[in-house]
Amino acid sequence: MHNRTVTELKEDLIKKNISSVELTNHFIERIKKFDPKLNSFISLTEEYAINQAKKIDSEIAKNKIRPLSGIPIAQKDIFCMKNIKTTCGSRMLENFISPYDSTVAEKLNDAGVIVLGKTNMDEFAMGSSNETSYFGSVKNPWDNDYVPGGSSGGSATSVAAGLAPCSTGTDTGGSIRQPASLCGVCGIKPTYGRVSRFGMIAFASSLDQAGIFTHTAEDCSILLTQISGFDVKDSTSSKIEVPDYHTECVKKFEPMKIGIPEEFLDGLDDTVKSVFSEAINILEKNNCSVKKINLKNSKLGVSAYQVVAPAECSSNLSRYDGIRFGYRSDNVSTIDELYKKSRSQGFGKEVKRRILIGTYALSAGYYDAYYLKAQKIRQLIASEFTEAFKEVDLILGPTAPDSAFKLGEKTNDPIAMYLSDVFTVSANLAGVPAMSIPMGFKNNLPLGLQIIGNHFDESKILSLAHHFQKITDWHKSKPVFNEE
Ligand code: GLN
Repeated sequence: MHNRTVTELKEDLIKKNISSVELTNHFIERIKKFDPKLNSFISLTEEYAINQAKKIDSEIAKNKIRPLSGIPIAQKDIFCMKNIKTTCGSRMLENFISPYDSTVAEKLNDAGVIVLGKTNMDEFAMGSSNETSYFGSVKNPWDNDYVPGGSSGGSATSVAAGLAPCSTGTDTGGSIRQPASLCGVCGIKPTYGRVSRFGMIAFASSLDQAGIFTHTAEDCSILLTQISGFDVKDSTSSKIEVPDYHTECVKKFEPMKIGIPEEFLDGLDDTVKSVFSEAINILEKNNCSVKKINLKNSKLGVSAYQVVAPAECSSNLSRYDGIRFGYRSDNVSTIDELYKKSRSQGFGKEVKRRILIGTYALSAGYYDAYYLKAQKIRQLIASEFTEAFKEVDLILGPTAPDSAFKLGEKTNDPIAMYLSDVFTVSANLAGVPAMSIPMGFKNNLPLGLQIIGNHFDESKILSLAHHFQKITDWHKSKPVFNEE
């Protein structure tokens, strides 16, 4: 039951083989049994979920069917949900009850989902290993000594471990794709502006984008259709019409031209390289042609990202001042002391590091040398993608340079940690959509295949991913649990 896809569960529910209440209870029980070890949820919304499930069951009984009627989902704790605790993985928002719904939460609710709980994440989505969460690290379900990736590590883990059939995530520099890769699930980050950011707690506003984790590309297409679209509450959301991604995903596969950037293979780990080459061979034998391309500036991506993202975060996080909402330090005598103590105690180490880097990069005298230069590199990266997509339909590479690393392995080396995003940040800087799907293993830990498309070409990405999953079984491998 717990490894069934959303596509299958939709049918189970409509055919009344199972009720939404039964399904919801099944997942809640699994969370209670396995999550104490994995720590993929910050909070459970059990009562809310059961009430929603009852409501949907009575609708189904009257043949009122919504696109996702009764499907349980895990919600990343960065999405505000009305009257529900939304922590963003931080002490700063430990007790924050949102007074409104994010657009993503609202759209999913309208589609009929059942939110099981809020998933663990790196604090304010800053991290690649889920170790910066105030609520403790998440364990990789394939091997609990390893990280699940970040920042949406809880969401990726919940799907991989069969604690939810799908989950939401956000991706500023790789936070959907990298944990999807490390946990062996599918994760899609759509084009910047495809999904509204309203009510999604901001990290770096020009890079942040919401997306989905599932077992299959087909499931991603179903959920993506529901969360996409223009929103008056987000001026950066796009008015471009939302196609039915599901129809686009499952329709007859059209031959595609795939570009492989030489820079992605340069110095790559041998196993990752051979697993990736095998995936490409399979596609080449199945209606795809392959072309070597160059994305020369992609190597500068992490450096540019680590200026732009902290700069925006230093501005976005200035709202947490201990006064309007969030953590407030007591025993203070002056307003300056209140700001200082609330922010010192409310934020963790990585968040403070980013605020300091960002404030420095934006300050007079350094702005031109860092921020402006990073923006120029960003433009170069975006132009390179535009040029590449004149010649190829999609760009493929490994999602991450390696499989999951051990907990604690990179916590004292921020640069090594930042480099886990080397293949993912460019898509955010350029605003193009990208997805990670399972492509094999290294020492029993999953590896992800990254598929990057041109702006608003989500349909092509999903179509290729679905085609790949029809001819391979990697997405069907799941971690084994000891049913003690
Ligand atoms: N790992 C990257 C960072 O630490 C990306 C995070 C994200 O995508 N939210 O900033």
